[in-house]
Amino acid sequence: MSNKPLSDLERIKTESNYLRGTLVESLADPITGALAPDDQQLIKFHGAYQQTDRDFDEERRRQKLEPLISFMIRVRVPGGVLTPKQWLDLDELTEKHCKPTLKLTTRQAVELHGVVKRKMKTAMQGIHATLLDSLAGCGDVNRNVMTSANPWESPVHQLVFDDALKIHKEFTPRTTAYHEIWLDDELVVGGEKKEDHEPLYGKTYLPRKFKVAIAVPPRNDVDVFANDLGFIAIVENGELVGYNLLAGGGMGSTFGMETTYPRLANVIGFVKKEDIVEAAKAVLIFQRDHGNRSERKFSRLKYTIDRLGLAYFNEQIKDALGDKLSEARPFKFDSNGDKLGWSKGYNGKWYFTLFIQGGKVRDDKHLQLKTALREIASVLKGNFTLTGNQNLVVGDIDEQDKAEIEALLEKWNLVKPLSGLRRNNIACVALPVCTMAFAEAERYAPSLIDKLEKILEKYNLLDEDILFRMTGCPNGCARPFLGEIALVGKSPGKYNLYLGAGFTGERLNKLYAELVEEHEVIGLLTPIFERFSKERLEGERFGDFVIRKGYVQATTSGLDFHQNIKLAKFHDIKPVLPKKKQTLDSILFVKKDKKKKKK
Ligand code: SF4
Repeated sequence: MSNKPLSDLERIKTESNYLRGTLVESLADPITGALAPDDQQLIKFHGAYQQTDRDFDEERRRQKLEPLISFMIRVRVPGGVLTPKQWLDLDELTEKHCKPTLKLTTRQAVELHGVVKRKMKTAMQGIHATLLDSLAGCGDVNRNVMTSANPWESPVHQLVFDDALKIHKEFTPRTTAYHEIWLDDELVVGGEKKEDHEPLYGKTYLPRKFKVAIAVPPRNDVDVFANDLGFIAIVENGELVGYNLLAGGGMGSTFGMETTYPRLANVIGFVKKEDIVEAAKAVLIFQRDHGNRSERKFSRLKYTIDRLGLAYFNEQIKDALGDKLSEARPFKFDSNGDKLGWSKGYNGKWYFTLFIQGGKVRDDKHLQLKTALREIASVLKGNFTLTGNQNLVVGDIDEQDKAEIEALLEKWNLVKPLSGLRRNNIACVALPVCTMAFAEAERYAPSLIDKLEKILEKYNLLDEDILFRMTGCPNGCARPFLGEIALVGKSPGKYNLYLGAGFTGERLNKLYAELVEEHEVIGLLTPIFERFSKERLEGERFGDFVIRKGYVQATTSGLDFHQNIKLAKFHDIKPVLPKKKQTLDSILFVKKDKKKKKK
Protein backbone atom coordinates (compact mmCIF):
# COMPACT_ATOMS: atom_id res chain seq x y z
CA MET A 1 0.00 0.00 0.00
CA SER A 2 1.13 3.53 -0.75
CA ASN A 3 2.92 5.50 2.01
CA LYS A 4 1.42 8.69 0.67
CA PRO A 5 -1.21 10.45 2.77
CA LEU A 6 -4.81 9.54 2.18
CA SER A 7 -6.70 11.61 -0.35
CA ASP A 8 -8.98 14.31 0.95
CA LEU A 9 -11.97 12.27 -0.19
CA GLU A 10 -11.05 9.68 2.44
CA ARG A 11 -11.25 12.37 5.13
CA ILE A 12 -14.59 13.57 3.80
CA LYS A 13 -16.01 10.04 3.84
CA THR A 14 -14.63 9.29 7.30
CA GLU A 15 -16.02 12.47 8.81
CA SER A 16 -19.34 12.27 6.98
CA ASN A 17 -21.22 10.07 9.43
CA TYR A 18 -22.24 7.66 6.71
CA LEU A 19 -22.68 10.20 3.93
CA ARG A 20 -24.46 12.94 5.86
CA GLY A 21 -21.77 15.60 6.17
CA THR A 22 -23.46 18.99 6.31
CA LEU A 23 -25.74 18.29 3.38
CA VAL A 24 -28.85 19.39 5.25
CA GLU A 25 -27.28 22.75 6.09
CA SER A 26 -25.84 23.16 2.59
CA LEU A 27 -29.19 22.50 0.98
CA ALA A 28 -30.87 25.01 3.28
CA ASP A 29 -28.34 27.80 2.66
CA PRO A 30 -30.27 30.45 0.65
CA ILE A 31 -27.20 32.58 -0.13
CA THR A 32 -25.80 30.29 -2.81
CA GLY A 33 -27.02 27.75 -5.33
CA ALA A 34 -24.00 25.61 -4.47
CA LEU A 35 -23.22 23.16 -1.70
CA ALA A 36 -20.27 23.44 0.67
CA PRO A 37 -17.15 21.90 -0.94
CA ASP A 38 -17.19 18.67 1.11
CA ASP A 39 -20.90 18.25 0.48
CA GLN A 40 -20.32 18.56 -3.26
CA GLN A 41 -18.36 15.32 -2.94
CA LEU A 42 -20.80 13.62 -0.60
CA ILE A 43 -23.86 14.32 -2.69
CA LYS A 44 -22.37 12.10 -5.40
CA PHE A 45 -23.01 9.09 -3.16
CA HIS A 46 -26.66 10.18 -3.15
CA GLY A 47 -26.61 10.05 -6.95
CA ALA A 48 -26.26 13.73 -7.75
CA TYR A 49 -23.56 15.98 -9.18
CA GLN A 50 -23.32 19.69 -8.73
CA GLN A 51 -22.78 21.20 -12.18
CA THR A 52 -22.63 24.55 -13.88
CA ASP A 53 -23.95 25.38 -17.31
CA ARG A 54 -20.65 26.18 -18.97
CA ASP A 55 -22.41 27.83 -21.92
CA PHE A 56 -23.23 30.68 -19.53
CA ASP A 57 -19.99 30.79 -17.50
CA GLU A 58 -18.50 33.72 -19.39
CA GLU A 59 -21.65 35.84 -19.29
CA ARG A 60 -22.16 35.15 -15.58
CA ARG A 61 -18.55 36.08 -14.86
CA ARG A 62 -19.02 39.33 -16.73
CA GLN A 63 -22.07 40.08 -14.65
CA LYS A 64 -20.16 39.18 -11.49
CA LEU A 65 -22.69 36.47 -10.73
CA GLU A 66 -22.21 33.00 -9.35
CA PRO A 67 -22.05 30.41 -12.17
CA LEU A 68 -25.40 28.95 -13.18
CA ILE A 69 -25.41 26.08 -10.72
CA SER A 70 -27.74 23.13 -10.89
CA PHE A 71 -27.63 19.41 -10.21
CA MET A 72 -27.79 16.24 -12.22
CA ILE A 73 -29.60 13.36 -10.51
CA ARG A 74 -28.81 9.87 -11.75
CA VAL A 75 -31.68 7.49 -11.14
CA ARG A 76 -30.56 3.90 -10.73
CA VAL A 77 -32.44 1.39 -12.84
CA PRO A 78 -30.79 -1.97 -12.17
CA GLY A 79 -30.92 -4.04 -15.35
CA GLY A 80 -32.60 -1.07 -17.03
CA VAL A 81 -36.22 -2.23 -16.64
CA LEU A 82 -38.93 0.39 -16.08
CA THR A 83 -42.68 0.06 -16.03
CA PRO A 84 -44.61 2.46 -18.28
CA LYS A 85 -45.89 4.13 -15.11
CA GLN A 86 -42.33 4.74 -13.89
CA TRP A 87 -41.46 6.18 -17.30
CA LEU A 88 -44.43 8.53 -17.19
CA ASP A 89 -43.59 9.59 -13.65
CA LEU A 90 -39.98 10.36 -14.57
CA ASP A 91 -41.21 12.22 -17.63
CA GLU A 92 -43.48 14.32 -15.44
CA LEU A 93 -40.62 15.08 -13.04
CA THR A 94 -38.57 16.50 -15.91
CA GLU A 95 -41.47 18.73 -16.88
CA LYS A 96 -41.80 20.08 -13.37
CA HIS A 97 -38.40 20.21 -11.71
CA CYS A 98 -35.57 20.39 -14.23
CA LYS A 99 -34.65 20.50 -17.90
CA PRO A 100 -37.35 18.76 -19.91
CA THR A 101 -35.03 15.97 -21.08
CA LEU A 102 -34.68 12.40 -19.91
CA LYS A 103 -31.09 11.41 -20.48
CA LEU A 104 -30.53 7.67 -20.90
CA THR A 105 -27.01 6.78 -19.84
CA THR A 106 -24.51 4.22 -21.06
CA ARG A 107 -25.15 2.21 -17.87
CA GLN A 108 -28.90 1.75 -18.14
CA ALA A 109 -29.69 4.61 -15.79
CA VAL A 110 -31.71 7.80 -16.32
CA GLU A 111 -30.39 11.26 -15.57
CA LEU A 112 -32.38 14.37 -14.77
CA HIS A 113 -30.40 17.53 -15.51
CA GLY A 114 -30.73 21.11 -14.36
CA VAL A 115 -32.33 20.59 -10.96
CA VAL A 116 -31.72 23.71 -8.89
CA LYS A 117 -30.83 23.34 -5.23
CA ARG A 118 -34.15 24.45 -3.83
CA LYS A 119 -35.91 21.79 -5.93
CA MET A 120 -33.55 18.94 -5.09
CA LYS A 121 -35.58 17.55 -2.25
CA THR A 122 -38.85 17.63 -4.17
CA ALA A 123 -37.16 15.95 -7.13
CA MET A 124 -35.67 13.24 -4.91
CA GLN A 125 -39.05 12.64 -3.31
CA GLY A 126 -40.59 12.43 -6.77
CA ILE A 127 -38.04 9.80 -7.74
CA HIS A 128 -38.79 7.87 -4.57
CA ALA A 129 -42.49 7.95 -5.41
CA THR A 130 -41.69 6.13 -8.67
CA LEU A 131 -40.20 3.31 -6.52
CA LEU A 132 -36.73 4.15 -7.82
CA ASP A 133 -33.83 5.90 -6.15
CA SER A 134 -30.54 7.57 -6.86
CA LEU A 135 -28.59 6.24 -3.87
CA ALA A 136 -25.14 5.14 -5.08
CA GLY A 137 -25.85 6.53 -8.54
CA CYS A 138 -22.38 8.09 -8.30
CA GLY A 139 -19.59 8.15 -5.66
CA ASP A 140 -17.13 5.56 -4.34
CA VAL A 141 -19.62 2.72 -4.30
CA ASN A 142 -21.03 0.16 -6.65
CA ARG A 143 -22.96 1.85 -9.46
CA ASN A 144 -26.01 0.73 -11.41
CA VAL A 145 -25.63 -2.99 -12.18
CA MET A 146 -25.90 -3.54 -15.91
CA THR A 147 -27.20 -6.57 -17.69
CA SER A 148 -27.87 -7.65 -21.23
CA ALA A 149 -30.99 -5.82 -22.40
CA ASN A 150 -32.44 -8.30 -24.85
CA PRO A 151 -35.25 -9.92 -22.92
CA TRP A 152 -36.72 -11.52 -26.02
CA GLU A 153 -33.68 -13.62 -26.80
CA SER A 154 -34.03 -16.44 -24.28
CA PRO A 155 -35.43 -17.31 -20.85
CA VAL A 156 -31.82 -17.03 -19.64
CA HIS A 157 -32.08 -13.25 -19.85
CA GLN A 158 -34.72 -13.17 -17.13
CA LEU A 159 -32.55 -15.34 -14.85
CA VAL A 160 -29.56 -13.10 -15.47
CA PHE A 161 -31.68 -10.06 -14.74
CA ASP A 162 -32.71 -11.65 -11.42
CA ASP A 163 -29.03 -12.20 -10.57
CA ALA A 164 -28.24 -8.58 -11.43
CA LEU A 165 -30.92 -7.52 -8.96
CA LYS A 166 -29.35 -9.71 -6.26
CA ILE A 167 -25.97 -8.01 -6.73
CA HIS A 168 -27.66 -4.61 -6.82
CA LYS A 169 -29.39 -5.33 -3.52
CA GLU A 170 -26.29 -6.72 -1.82
CA PHE A 171 -24.14 -3.78 -2.94
CA THR A 172 -26.59 -1.00 -2.09
CA PRO A 173 -25.27 1.08 0.82
CA ARG A 174 -27.13 0.54 4.11
CA THR A 175 -26.79 4.12 5.36
CA THR A 176 -30.07 5.74 6.37
CA ALA A 177 -28.71 9.15 5.41
CA TYR A 178 -30.44 9.03 2.03
CA HIS A 179 -33.88 8.53 3.57
CA GLU A 180 -33.14 10.99 6.34
CA ILE A 181 -31.96 13.83 4.11
CA TRP A 182 -34.25 13.49 1.12
CA LEU A 183 -37.32 11.72 2.41
CA ASP A 184 -37.52 13.19 5.93
CA ASP A 185 -37.28 9.79 7.59
CA GLU A 186 -36.35 10.19 11.24
CA LEU A 187 -33.01 8.83 12.38
CA VAL A 188 -34.49 8.18 15.79
CA VAL A 189 -35.51 4.55 16.18
CA GLY A 190 -37.41 3.64 19.35
CA GLY A 191 -36.59 7.05 20.80
CA GLU A 192 -32.85 6.49 20.60
CA LYS A 193 -30.41 7.41 17.91
CA LYS A 194 -29.14 4.28 16.26
CA GLU A 195 -25.82 4.51 14.49
CA ASP A 196 -25.63 3.39 10.89
CA HIS A 197 -23.59 0.39 9.93
CA GLU A 198 -22.18 -0.52 6.52
CA PRO A 199 -21.37 -4.23 6.78
CA LEU A 200 -19.84 -4.40 3.32
CA TYR A 201 -18.37 -0.97 2.76
CA GLY A 202 -17.44 0.27 6.21
CA LYS A 203 -17.26 3.97 7.02
CA THR A 204 -15.00 4.87 4.13
CA TYR A 205 -16.82 2.98 1.40
CA LEU A 206 -14.66 2.07 -1.61
CA PRO A 207 -11.46 3.76 -2.81
CA ARG A 208 -13.26 4.72 -6.03
CA LYS A 209 -16.31 3.95 -8.14
CA PHE A 210 -17.04 0.30 -8.88
CA LYS A 211 -18.90 -0.95 -11.93
CA VAL A 212 -20.57 -4.30 -12.48
CA ALA A 213 -22.07 -5.75 -15.66
CA ILE A 214 -23.39 -9.13 -16.77
CA ALA A 215 -23.31 -10.16 -20.43
CA VAL A 216 -25.19 -12.95 -22.14
CA PRO A 217 -23.29 -14.26 -25.19
CA PRO A 218 -23.34 -13.95 -28.10
CA ARG A 219 -24.17 -10.27 -27.47
CA ASN A 220 -21.73 -8.13 -25.50
CA ASP A 221 -24.12 -5.19 -25.36
CA VAL A 222 -22.94 -4.15 -21.89
CA ASP A 223 -19.22 -4.00 -22.77
CA VAL A 224 -18.57 -6.46 -20.00
CA PHE A 225 -14.77 -6.13 -20.28
CA ALA A 226 -14.99 -2.42 -19.44
CA ASN A 227 -16.21 -3.08 -15.90
CA ASP A 228 -14.40 -3.50 -12.59
CA LEU A 229 -16.38 -6.70 -12.17
CA GLY A 230 -18.03 -8.61 -14.97
CA PHE A 231 -19.90 -11.83 -15.42
CA ILE A 232 -20.42 -13.71 -18.65
CA ALA A 233 -23.42 -16.04 -18.55
CA ILE A 234 -22.53 -19.63 -19.41
CA VAL A 235 -25.38 -21.52 -20.96
CA GLU A 236 -25.04 -25.28 -21.46
CA ASN A 237 -27.77 -27.39 -23.04
CA GLY A 238 -30.10 -24.39 -22.85
CA GLU A 239 -29.56 -23.98 -19.08
CA LEU A 240 -27.84 -21.11 -17.30
CA VAL A 241 -25.22 -23.03 -15.31
CA GLY A 242 -23.19 -20.11 -14.03
CA TYR A 243 -20.89 -17.31 -14.97
CA ASN A 244 -17.33 -16.63 -15.97
CA LEU A 245 -15.99 -14.09 -13.51
CA LEU A 246 -14.07 -11.09 -14.91
CA ALA A 247 -12.21 -8.39 -13.01
CA GLY A 248 -10.16 -5.27 -13.61
CA GLY A 249 -11.80 -3.48 -16.51
CA GLY A 250 -12.12 0.28 -16.73
CA MET A 251 -12.03 2.99 -19.37
CA GLY A 252 -10.72 6.14 -17.73
CA SER A 253 -7.29 7.63 -18.35
CA THR A 254 -5.66 11.04 -18.15
CA PHE A 255 -4.04 12.84 -21.06
CA GLY A 256 -0.30 13.14 -20.63
CA MET A 257 -0.09 10.47 -17.90
CA GLU A 258 0.96 7.20 -19.42
CA THR A 259 0.67 5.53 -16.05
CA THR A 260 -3.09 5.81 -16.54
CA TYR A 261 -4.77 3.69 -19.21
CA PRO A 262 -7.97 1.95 -20.17
CA ARG A 263 -7.91 -1.75 -19.40
CA LEU A 264 -9.94 -4.79 -20.30
CA ALA A 265 -11.03 -7.07 -17.49
CA ASN A 266 -9.25 -10.41 -17.09
CA VAL A 267 -11.21 -13.65 -17.12
CA ILE A 268 -10.59 -15.11 -13.67
CA GLY A 269 -12.63 -18.30 -13.58
CA PHE A 270 -16.10 -19.81 -13.44
CA VAL A 271 -18.66 -19.72 -10.63
CA LYS A 272 -21.98 -21.51 -10.44
CA LYS A 273 -25.14 -19.47 -10.75
CA GLU A 274 -25.92 -19.77 -7.04
CA ASP A 275 -22.48 -18.38 -6.13
CA ILE A 276 -22.64 -15.16 -8.15
CA VAL A 277 -23.24 -12.84 -5.18
CA GLU A 278 -20.49 -14.42 -3.09
CA ALA A 279 -18.08 -14.13 -6.02
CA ALA A 280 -19.07 -10.51 -6.57
CA LYS A 281 -18.49 -9.76 -2.89
CA ALA A 282 -15.05 -11.38 -2.93
CA VAL A 283 -13.90 -9.03 -5.69
CA LEU A 284 -15.46 -5.94 -4.13
CA ILE A 285 -13.91 -6.73 -0.73
CA PHE A 286 -10.49 -7.21 -2.32
CA GLN A 287 -10.77 -3.79 -3.92
CA ARG A 288 -12.10 -2.22 -0.71
CA ASP A 289 -9.10 -3.50 1.24
CA HIS A 290 -6.33 -3.15 -1.34
CA GLY A 291 -7.35 -0.22 -3.54
CA ASN A 292 -5.23 2.92 -3.55
CA ARG A 293 -6.80 5.49 -1.21
CA SER A 294 -4.05 8.08 -1.67
CA GLU A 295 -4.07 8.84 -5.37
CA ARG A 296 -7.53 8.74 -6.84
CA LYS A 297 -6.18 8.52 -10.37
CA PHE A 298 -4.91 5.06 -9.48
CA SER A 299 -7.74 3.88 -7.25
CA ARG A 300 -9.77 1.73 -9.62
CA LEU A 301 -9.51 -2.03 -9.36
CA LYS A 302 -7.62 -2.21 -12.67
CA TYR A 303 -4.66 -0.42 -11.09
CA THR A 304 -4.91 -2.43 -7.90
CA ILE A 305 -4.59 -5.62 -9.94
CA ASP A 306 -1.68 -4.32 -12.02
CA ARG A 307 0.08 -2.98 -8.92
CA LEU A 308 -0.22 -6.19 -6.93
CA GLY A 309 -0.10 -8.57 -9.85
CA LEU A 310 -2.80 -10.65 -11.48
CA ALA A 311 -1.41 -13.81 -9.91
CA TYR A 312 -1.83 -12.36 -6.41
CA PHE A 313 -5.35 -11.19 -7.20
CA ASN A 314 -6.29 -14.63 -8.55
CA GLU A 315 -4.82 -16.26 -5.45
CA GLN A 316 -6.81 -14.00 -3.12
CA ILE A 317 -10.07 -14.58 -4.96
CA LYS A 318 -9.37 -18.32 -4.98
CA ASP A 319 -8.74 -18.18 -1.23
CA ALA A 320 -12.04 -16.37 -0.70
CA LEU A 321 -14.10 -18.65 -2.92
CA GLY A 322 -12.31 -21.99 -2.58
CA ASP A 323 -13.87 -24.71 -4.74
CA LYS A 324 -16.57 -22.35 -5.83
CA LEU A 325 -14.12 -20.88 -8.34
CA SER A 326 -13.14 -23.21 -11.16
CA GLU A 327 -11.60 -22.88 -14.58
CA ALA A 328 -13.33 -20.42 -16.91
CA ARG A 329 -15.62 -21.98 -19.50
CA PRO A 330 -15.65 -21.23 -23.25
CA PHE A 331 -17.78 -18.36 -24.48
CA LYS A 332 -18.13 -16.48 -27.74
CA PHE A 333 -19.38 -12.99 -28.48
CA ASP A 334 -20.38 -11.95 -31.98
CA SER A 335 -21.54 -8.39 -31.47
CA ASN A 336 -21.49 -5.45 -29.16
CA GLY A 337 -24.40 -3.08 -29.77
CA ASP A 338 -28.18 -3.42 -29.73
CA LYS A 339 -30.32 -5.10 -32.35
CA LEU A 340 -32.60 -2.28 -33.41
CA GLY A 341 -36.16 -2.62 -34.66
CA TRP A 342 -38.73 -5.36 -34.08
CA SER A 343 -37.89 -8.78 -32.63
CA LYS A 344 -40.22 -11.56 -31.64
CA GLY A 345 -39.32 -13.07 -28.29
CA TYR A 346 -38.97 -16.74 -27.37
CA ASN A 347 -42.14 -16.11 -25.33
CA GLY A 348 -44.18 -15.02 -28.35
CA LYS A 349 -44.17 -11.35 -27.28
CA TRP A 350 -42.86 -8.46 -29.34
CA TYR A 351 -40.00 -6.05 -28.66
CA PHE A 352 -39.01 -2.87 -30.46
CA THR A 353 -35.53 -1.49 -29.82
CA LEU A 354 -35.51 2.21 -30.51
CA PHE A 355 -32.33 4.10 -31.32
CA ILE A 356 -31.99 7.25 -29.23
CA GLN A 357 -29.25 9.60 -30.39
CA GLY A 358 -27.04 10.41 -27.43
CA GLY A 359 -29.68 8.89 -25.12
CA LYS A 360 -31.55 12.21 -25.13
CA VAL A 361 -35.30 11.92 -24.84
CA ARG A 362 -36.77 15.34 -25.55
CA ASP A 363 -38.92 17.18 -28.05
CA ASP A 364 -37.30 19.37 -30.65
CA LYS A 365 -38.29 20.73 -34.02
CA HIS A 366 -37.10 17.57 -35.78
CA LEU A 367 -38.48 14.88 -33.51
CA GLN A 368 -41.12 14.83 -30.79
CA LEU A 369 -39.46 11.87 -29.07
CA LYS A 370 -40.55 12.65 -25.55
CA THR A 371 -44.17 13.14 -26.55
CA ALA A 372 -44.04 9.97 -28.62
CA LEU A 373 -42.71 7.84 -25.78
CA ARG A 374 -45.23 9.40 -23.40
CA GLU A 375 -48.01 8.33 -25.72
CA ILE A 376 -46.54 4.85 -26.11
CA ALA A 377 -46.08 4.48 -22.35
CA SER A 378 -49.67 5.50 -21.75
CA VAL A 379 -50.98 2.50 -23.74
CA LEU A 380 -48.14 0.01 -23.26
CA LYS A 381 -48.99 -3.06 -21.20
CA GLY A 382 -45.41 -4.34 -21.23
CA ASN A 383 -42.31 -2.43 -20.13
CA PHE A 384 -39.38 -0.29 -21.19
CA THR A 385 -35.81 -1.60 -20.96
CA LEU A 386 -32.92 0.84 -21.11
CA THR A 387 -29.91 -0.58 -22.91
CA GLY A 388 -26.24 -0.01 -22.17
CA ASN A 389 -25.99 1.82 -25.49
CA GLN A 390 -28.37 4.67 -24.61
CA ASN A 391 -31.26 3.01 -26.46
CA LEU A 392 -34.67 1.85 -25.32
CA VAL A 393 -36.56 -1.42 -25.78
CA VAL A 394 -40.34 -1.09 -25.85
CA GLY A 395 -41.11 -4.61 -24.79
CA ASP A 396 -43.37 -7.43 -23.66
CA ILE A 397 -45.99 -6.50 -26.23
CA ASP A 398 -48.73 -9.05 -26.87
CA GLU A 399 -49.47 -9.97 -30.45
CA GLN A 400 -52.87 -8.27 -30.33
CA ASP A 401 -51.32 -4.99 -29.05
CA LYS A 402 -48.48 -4.80 -31.55
CA ALA A 403 -50.42 -2.92 -34.23
CA GLU A 404 -51.22 -0.09 -31.82
CA ILE A 405 -47.57 0.37 -30.82
CA GLU A 406 -46.51 0.06 -34.44
CA ALA A 407 -48.95 2.79 -35.42
CA LEU A 408 -47.57 5.10 -32.72
CA LEU A 409 -44.00 4.45 -33.79
CA GLU A 410 -44.98 5.32 -37.37
CA LYS A 411 -47.01 8.32 -36.30
CA TRP A 412 -44.04 9.84 -34.53
CA ASN A 413 -41.57 8.90 -37.25
CA LEU A 414 -39.56 6.56 -35.04
CA VAL A 415 -39.12 3.77 -37.59
CA LYS A 416 -36.50 4.89 -40.00
CA PRO A 417 -33.34 3.40 -41.45
CA LEU A 418 -30.08 4.47 -39.83
CA SER A 419 -26.54 4.14 -41.03
CA GLY A 420 -24.34 1.53 -39.37
CA LEU A 421 -22.17 4.30 -37.95
CA ARG A 422 -25.11 6.12 -36.36
CA ARG A 423 -26.81 3.08 -34.90
CA ASN A 424 -23.51 2.09 -33.28
CA ASN A 425 -22.71 5.50 -31.89
CA ILE A 426 -22.70 6.40 -28.23
CA ALA A 427 -21.59 9.75 -26.88
CA CYS A 428 -21.23 11.13 -23.40
CA VAL A 429 -22.97 14.25 -22.14
CA ALA A 430 -19.79 16.43 -22.11
CA LEU A 431 -20.47 20.16 -22.64
CA PRO A 432 -22.17 22.18 -21.40
CA VAL A 433 -22.75 20.48 -18.03
CA CYS A 434 -19.84 18.13 -17.42
CA THR A 435 -17.09 19.97 -15.57
CA MET A 436 -14.47 17.56 -16.93
CA ALA A 437 -15.30 18.07 -20.61
CA PHE A 438 -12.63 19.56 -22.88
CA ALA A 439 -14.84 19.37 -25.95
CA GLU A 440 -18.35 18.60 -27.19
CA ALA A 441 -19.58 15.03 -27.53
CA GLU A 442 -23.32 14.29 -27.49
CA ARG A 443 -24.26 17.69 -28.98
CA TYR A 444 -21.69 17.36 -31.76
CA ALA A 445 -21.79 13.67 -32.68
CA PRO A 446 -24.97 13.85 -34.84
CA SER A 447 -23.63 16.54 -37.16
CA LEU A 448 -20.28 14.81 -37.57
CA ILE A 449 -22.08 11.56 -38.37
CA ASP A 450 -24.11 13.43 -41.01
CA LYS A 451 -20.84 14.32 -42.71
CA LEU A 452 -19.22 10.91 -42.33
CA GLU A 453 -22.35 9.24 -43.70
CA LYS A 454 -21.82 11.03 -46.99
CA ILE A 455 -18.36 9.51 -47.27
CA LEU A 456 -19.62 6.09 -46.25
CA GLU A 457 -22.38 6.31 -48.82
CA LYS A 458 -19.86 7.09 -51.52
CA TYR A 459 -17.99 3.90 -50.65
CA ASN A 460 -21.11 1.79 -50.25
CA LEU A 461 -20.53 1.42 -46.52
CA LEU A 462 -23.62 3.16 -45.23
CA ASP A 463 -25.09 0.01 -43.74
CA GLU A 464 -21.78 -1.23 -42.31
CA ASP A 465 -21.86 -1.61 -38.53
CA ILE A 466 -18.93 0.38 -37.15
CA LEU A 467 -18.63 1.09 -33.42
CA PHE A 468 -18.23 4.83 -33.07
CA ARG A 469 -17.72 6.39 -29.66
CA MET A 470 -17.27 10.02 -28.68
CA THR A 471 -16.47 11.63 -25.34
CA GLY A 472 -15.54 15.10 -24.17
CA CYS A 473 -12.56 13.87 -22.14
CA PRO A 474 -10.64 10.65 -21.52
CA ASN A 475 -12.60 9.69 -18.40
CA GLY A 476 -14.35 7.27 -20.64
CA CYS A 477 -18.06 7.54 -19.79
CA ALA A 478 -19.14 6.40 -23.26
CA ARG A 479 -16.46 3.68 -23.26
CA PRO A 480 -14.51 5.39 -26.05
CA PHE A 481 -11.54 3.06 -25.97
CA LEU A 482 -13.77 0.26 -27.19
CA GLY A 483 -14.76 2.15 -30.34
CA GLU A 484 -13.55 0.91 -33.70
CA ILE A 485 -13.45 4.65 -34.30
CA ALA A 486 -13.35 6.98 -31.30
CA LEU A 487 -12.94 10.68 -30.75
CA VAL A 488 -11.91 11.86 -27.31
CA GLY A 489 -12.04 15.59 -26.65
CA LYS A 490 -8.74 17.29 -25.91
CA SER A 491 -9.60 20.97 -26.33
CA PRO A 492 -12.57 22.84 -27.78
CA GLY A 493 -13.16 21.50 -31.30
CA LYS A 494 -10.13 19.20 -31.14
CA TYR A 495 -10.03 15.47 -30.52
CA ASN A 496 -7.70 12.55 -30.33
CA LEU A 497 -8.69 9.97 -32.90
CA TYR A 498 -8.44 6.31 -31.93
CA LEU A 499 -8.90 3.32 -34.20
CA GLY A 500 -8.95 -0.44 -34.04
CA ALA A 501 -11.05 -1.72 -31.16
CA GLY A 502 -12.70 -5.11 -31.64
CA PHE A 503 -16.31 -5.34 -32.78
CA THR A 504 -17.19 -7.60 -29.85
CA GLY A 505 -15.70 -5.36 -27.17
CA GLU A 506 -12.71 -7.62 -26.53
CA ARG A 507 -9.88 -5.40 -27.83
CA LEU A 508 -9.01 -1.76 -27.05
CA ASN A 509 -8.28 0.79 -29.74
CA LYS A 510 -5.13 2.84 -30.19
CA LEU A 511 -4.28 6.50 -30.76
CA TYR A 512 -4.08 7.27 -34.46
CA ALA A 513 -4.02 11.08 -34.59
CA GLU A 514 -3.75 13.82 -31.99
CA LEU A 515 -5.63 17.08 -31.63
CA VAL A 516 -7.53 16.81 -34.87
CA GLU A 517 -10.34 19.09 -35.96
CA GLU A 518 -13.36 18.03 -37.93
CA HIS A 519 -11.88 18.48 -41.41
CA GLU A 520 -8.85 16.49 -40.33
CA VAL A 521 -10.99 13.69 -38.93
CA ILE A 522 -12.83 13.52 -42.24
CA GLY A 523 -9.56 13.83 -44.13
CA LEU A 524 -8.03 10.96 -42.24
CA LEU A 525 -11.01 8.65 -42.31
CA THR A 526 -11.94 9.14 -45.97
CA PRO A 527 -9.03 7.19 -47.50
CA ILE A 528 -9.39 4.49 -44.85
CA PHE A 529 -13.08 4.07 -45.67
CA GLU A 530 -12.18 3.91 -49.35
CA ARG A 531 -9.58 1.20 -48.81
CA PHE A 532 -11.91 -0.65 -46.46
CA SER A 533 -14.56 -0.77 -49.18
CA LYS A 534 -12.09 -2.09 -51.74
CA GLU A 535 -9.63 -4.21 -49.80
CA ARG A 536 -11.51 -5.72 -46.88
CA LEU A 537 -11.67 -9.48 -46.54
CA GLU A 538 -15.05 -11.13 -46.50
CA GLY A 539 -16.82 -10.39 -43.23
CA GLU A 540 -13.86 -8.34 -41.97
CA ARG A 541 -14.77 -5.67 -39.43
CA PHE A 542 -13.48 -2.11 -39.66
CA GLY A 543 -11.51 -2.42 -36.42
CA ASP A 544 -9.75 -5.55 -37.66
CA PHE A 545 -9.09 -4.01 -41.07
CA VAL A 546 -7.24 -0.96 -39.75
CA ILE A 547 -4.97 -3.30 -37.82
CA ARG A 548 -4.36 -5.64 -40.74
CA LYS A 549 -3.51 -2.68 -42.93
CA GLY A 550 -1.12 -1.22 -40.36
CA TYR A 551 -2.96 2.02 -39.52
CA VAL A 552 -2.63 1.07 -35.85
CA GLN A 553 -1.21 -1.87 -33.98
CA ALA A 554 -3.51 -4.12 -32.00
CA THR A 555 -3.75 -3.20 -28.32
CA THR A 556 -3.50 -6.47 -26.52
CA SER A 557 -3.74 -5.16 -22.96
CA GLY A 558 -4.17 -1.93 -21.04
CA LEU A 559 -0.45 -1.78 -20.32
CA ASP A 560 0.11 -1.82 -24.05
CA PHE A 561 -2.28 1.07 -24.72
CA HIS A 562 0.43 3.73 -24.98
CA GLN A 563 2.93 1.49 -26.77
CA ASN A 564 3.65 1.23 -30.49
CA ILE A 565 1.82 4.39 -31.41
CA LYS A 566 2.51 5.62 -34.91
CA LEU A 567 0.69 8.88 -35.39
CA ALA A 568 -0.88 9.61 -38.73
CA LYS A 569 0.70 12.31 -40.80
CA PHE A 570 -2.30 14.50 -41.34
CA HIS A 571 -0.51 17.81 -41.62
CA ASP A 572 0.17 17.32 -45.30
CA ILE A 573 -3.47 16.67 -46.08
CA LYS A 574 -5.97 19.42 -46.39
CA PRO A 575 -9.55 19.43 -47.56
CA VAL A 576 -10.48 21.24 -50.72
CA LEU A 577 -13.66 22.88 -49.58
CA PRO A 578 -16.24 23.95 -52.14
CA LYS A 579 -16.88 27.60 -52.70
CA LYS A 580 -20.65 27.25 -52.32
CA LYS A 581 -22.60 24.36 -50.87
CA GLN A 582 -20.61 21.39 -49.67
CA THR A 583 -21.66 18.15 -51.29
CA LEU A 584 -20.36 14.64 -50.99
CA ASP A 585 -18.54 14.78 -54.32
CA SER A 586 -16.87 18.01 -53.35
CA ILE A 587 -15.23 16.55 -50.27
CA LEU A 588 -11.93 15.62 -51.84
CA PHE A 589 -8.60 15.67 -50.14
CA VAL A 590 -5.32 16.32 -51.85
CA LYS A 591 -1.71 16.70 -50.83
CA LYS A 592 -0.68 20.25 -50.18
CA ASP A 593 1.08 21.54 -53.17
CA LYS A 594 3.95 23.23 -51.45
CA LYS A 595 5.45 24.44 -54.69
CA LYS A 596 2.27 26.21 -55.66
CA LYS A 597 2.17 27.79 -52.27
CA LYS A 598 5.66 29.18 -52.70
CA LYS A 599 4.67 30.74 -56.02
FE1 SF4 B 1 -17.71 14.24 -18.73
FE2 SF4 B 1 -15.54 13.09 -19.59
FE3 SF4 B 1 -17.55 11.59 -18.67
FE4 SF4 B 1 -17.78 12.85 -20.97
S1 SF4 B 1 -16.30 11.22 -20.52
S2 SF4 B 1 -19.30 12.81 -19.33
S3 SF4 B 1 -16.65 14.72 -20.63
S4 SF4 B 1 -16.30 13.01 -17.49
